[in-house]
Amino acid sequence: MSAVPVSIGVRMTGRSAVAVAGVAAHDTSGVAEPGSPLVDTHGRVHRDLRISLTDRCSLRCTYCMPEQGNEWLARSSILSLDEIERVARVAAAAGVTTFRLTGGEPLLRTDIVDVVRRLSEIRGPEGTPVELAMTTNGIRLPELLPGLVDAGLRRLNISLDTLRRDRFHELTRRDRLDDVIAGIAAAAASGLRPLKLNAVAMRDVNDDELADLVAFALANGAEMRFIEQMPLDAGHTWDRSRMVTRDEILHALSARWALTPVPGRGGAPAERWLLDGGPATVGVIASVTAPFCGDCDRLRLTADGQLRNCLFSTTEYDLLPIMRAVPGASADPSEATVDDDIDRMLRSCVHGKLPGHAINDPSFLQPARGMNAIGG
Ligand code: SF4
Repeated sequence: MSAVPVSIGVRMTGRSAVAVAGVAAHDTSGVAEPGSPLVDTHGRVHRDLRISLTDRCSLRCTYCMPEQGNEWLARSSILSLDEIERVARVAAAAGVTTFRLTGGEPLLRTDIVDVVRRLSEIRGPEGTPVELAMTTNGIRLPELLPGLVDAGLRRLNISLDTLRRDRFHELTRRDRLDDVIAGIAAAAASGLRPLKLNAVAMRDVNDDELADLVAFALANGAEMRFIEQMPLDAGHTWDRSRMVTRDEILHALSARWALTPVPGRGGAPAERWLLDGGPATVGVIASVTAPFCGDCDRLRLTADGQLRNCLFSTTEYDLLPIMRAVPGASADPSEATVDDDIDRMLRSCVHGKLPGHAINDPSFLQPARGMNAIGG
């Protein structure tokens, strides 16, 4: 790797932003040179780009958004279809092989089928197709799924924290469980596999129905995955002592199934277990008690054009000045130069990645953005 002596726009967020808010010069010496893989200073090669399409959602999950008064992203800052495609194309040329569409709720985006079609047509340097996946609350799947599959969507993760209507209403502040169940049925019928259902395990909220959720997933041809709750809620109310841990989840499930670890996890967030010898499986994403940051291959693009190298990053790499030719943009706005600048920003973002999230460190700072504005 050779040094790339440029300065780029970096936005500091979170509590540290009080002193340094705005765009600051950032030394990018030592970043991976153009044409090489997106490798960080800890040797991790980045191949997965999570693209948040909106911070809006049809639900208001208590662990994600406040009930009222959320500070929404300015509509003028939301990336257009052309801008999203442009960043994705440059990322694919740099070695990214998977795009996962998230939000907020990605299906609220009115041009979602066009987004899927345009991204699914992107090819890597050897002409390899990208893998296109989506994480959704499922509510609009019955109407949209045929068009999404036709456009090139290949994998779905659907969020489902409870099977009980009263709990769902309380947890999401919306009475939409039937709509989510209909969305899961549509996904099951579509033949998209693997199909995954995601639940945040929460004490005294849904920790008494973990096995029921697994049984529901199995009945729909899906894999249930439980996520340890992380400090990403908009209200900053996360309490480690209240968190349901991986070991507690496994203990609860082992009362109904014999669990056998599945080897070969690679960079995947979920550890997986065979249920009663398989082939059915369950997954646990133990971000807090068993962090997997050492194998992380993920980058994030927010709906307002910020690159993030970690869920918990308090630094963002601003692509808007590059793509919209506002002050701070390149003096030469030609197509190739803009793509080169995006590539350089991707490499700087990867270069700046810390070894892990440090949730377990007393100095940990929760990012200012809520989960709905970061993308899961
Ligand atoms: S916390 Fe950050 S570094 Fe760790 S796995 Fe998640 S995104 Fe990757």
